[in-house]
Amino acid sequence: MLLADIDQRIKLCTKCALCNSKKNYVPGCGPQNAEVVFVSDAPKPADDNSGIPMSGDQGALFDSYLDFLGLDSETVFITQAVKCRAPKDRKPKKKEINTCLPYFYQQVESIKPKLVIILGELAFNAIFQDCTFAKCRGDLLTKHQVNYTSTYHPGHALRMPTVKIDIVDDLKRIREYLTQLGVKTNA
Ligand code: SF4
Repeated sequence: MLLADIDQRIKLCTKCALCNSKKNYVPGCGPQNAEVVFVSDAPKPADDNSGIPMSGDQGALFDSYLDFLGLDSETVFITQAVKCRAPKDRKPKKKEINTCLPYFYQQVESIKPKLVIILGELAFNAIFQDCTFAKCRGDLLTKHQVNYTSTYHPGHALRMPTVKIDIVDDLKRIREYLTQLGVKTNA
């Protein structure tokens, strides 16, 4: 299935109650042939307003991740585990995450990226049940023949600036994975 078809499915989705509270569905953005996919947790208010992930303040810090990795924002696909913002900015519930996550797997299946970079604990722990973000952050992992790695969500770094040192260490490791996996970068 093409990304555009998945996008249409998401924009018609009523599988959980979050479709009633969101302003816009936030399916994700980026090209069909992206070599790298980023997945975070759920839309923030700015994403909900625009329908585009990584909008607002966190977007500026996310752009610095891309610069560090030598990746162009036009060439990567950016999405979230949950495609609709929860009311009052609460975290999505486990049931909501599990209901929405198949769309992410469909997007990955459609794109067939060389690497998926998970941003933050919520998305990591939704995708991996056999290791935790605390233990495996920054490691190169495989699930269903897809390569994954992870680091902190930019929003977490804005709230807790002390993690920026760990993010730089993670990004250095991720830069090595990109080289190993033959991803084209500007680095
Ligand atoms: S959060 Fe996901 S499952 Fe729930 S309505 Fe939105 S797109 Fe559908």
